[in-house]
Amino acid sequence: MKLICLDDDPRMEPALRRFAKQLGHEVQFHTASATFKAQIKCQAPDLVLLDLSLGQESGIDIIAWLAEAQIQVPIVLLSGQGDDLLDTARRIAKASGILVLGAVSKGQLVRDLPPLLAERSGGTAPLLIRPAAEPLLTPHELEIHIKEGRIEPYFQPIVSAADRQLRGAEVLARLRLPSGQILGAPAFIPLAESTGLILPLTAALFTRIIAVARDLEPLQLEFLAVNLSAATLEQQPTIALVRRLIEGLAGCCHVHVELTETARIADSQPVRELAAQISLLGASLAVDDFGTGYSSIRALTELPFDTIKIDLSFVAEMFDSAKARKVLIAIIALGHSLGLKVVAEGVETEAQWRVLIESGADLLQGYLFGRPMDILEFVRTRSAALNTTNRAA
Ligand code: C2E
Ligand code: CA
Ligand code: CA
Repeated sequence: MKLICLDDDPRMEPALRRFAKQLGHEVQFHTASATFKAQIKCQAPDLVLLDLSLGQESGIDIIAWLAEAQIQVPIVLLSGQGDDLLDTARRIAKASGILVLGAVSKGQLVRDLPPLLAERSGGTAPLLIRPAAEPLLTPHELEIHIKEGRIEPYFQPIVSAADRQLRGAEVLARLRLPSGQILGAPAFIPLAESTGLILPLTAALFTRIIAVARDLEPLQLEFLAVNLSAATLEQQPTIALVRRLIEGLAGCCHVHVELTETARIADSQPVRELAAQISLLGASLAVDDFGTGYSSIRALTELPFDTIKIDLSFVAEMFDSAKARKVLIAIIALGHSLGLKVVAEGVETEAQWRVLIESGADLLQGYLFGRPMDILEFVRTRSAALNTTNRAA
């Protein structure tokens, strides 16, 4: 494997050569960004080691240059200035589409760098992480799919933090193409939101949920959570849709309504009215993606929320960023001090689960407890789990 390192401190070179040699890599060491750039342009290496503090140009400039020049090479960031700076640089690089394999504090070089190099030479990580391209839909195509009933509810379990018992599920929209391919929400929800199709889409989805209410009954769910986009909240038919859903699920479970983008909508009069109406109908109201730019703390005081859903990025980053973990714990405390339930989503590992119970999260959702599933799979896997618990009791 070929490595290129850019660091204005020449004392780094011998240490780096030693590691690289042990692992059988070839290293080119540059102290000036001009020669570094010239070499990368002529031949891209397998990995770039980039120091953030470089004298004239900074590592942040180099990241921007790599992105601009569309040079797609994985990088490891180095810094002598502590973890916070590395963490921010990692975010900058990621947002520019650069694959960051790791960030290493220079004081921990001996400990942290060799495993990263060894992992990379294992050759398992793909050079470029690109999600598989999903076919793009035109608004007209989406409209037809909605009319022809191709929007389907998928159900993702929500469990009690303490004992992992099933409590409810979030309904996530999927689009089943005539070819049988299932499209995820990001492939059509933003399009629906920007073209006015989100209201008919939501109506179609709610109809499908009501149609399977009987199948859900044996699972004894406490609630089903649905998402309402900000784009629908100021529209008058929305409350009728929610009312119909609550009635349709009356024998089955409560309805939780999750609102996102509350930063944009919290001080709108029609949204206040809708939120109050939803609460009066007996549905619970959750602020979704809490902690991101789209949700605001202000909304907690403006609207009658009873639940906070912490944005999954805080869970994803809890072991990469001490600050993300502290914010996560503080959000749970904030929610509880306001008398709200706190749900954490995106829980993928046992280690994340342990931190979340220790921090007092009430409900959890994530691949660790179950992926979003169609109704058949949801009922099948959950009835099996219910039978096992009943037998054990
Ligand atoms: P959301 O409301 O924050 O939903 C959670 C998303 O996280 C879902 O993505 C879910 O599949 C994904 N997820 C669940 N567990 C994990 C995990 O452990 N790790 C990771 N990395 N991801 C996990 P999905 O289904 O693709 O939905 C994306 C977004 O699209 C949703 O984010 C929601 O904002 C929107 N959406 C989905 N269905 C609807 C809908 O019926 N109506 C509206 N208005 N928006 C919807
Ligand atoms: Ca949601
Ligand atoms: Ca979310």
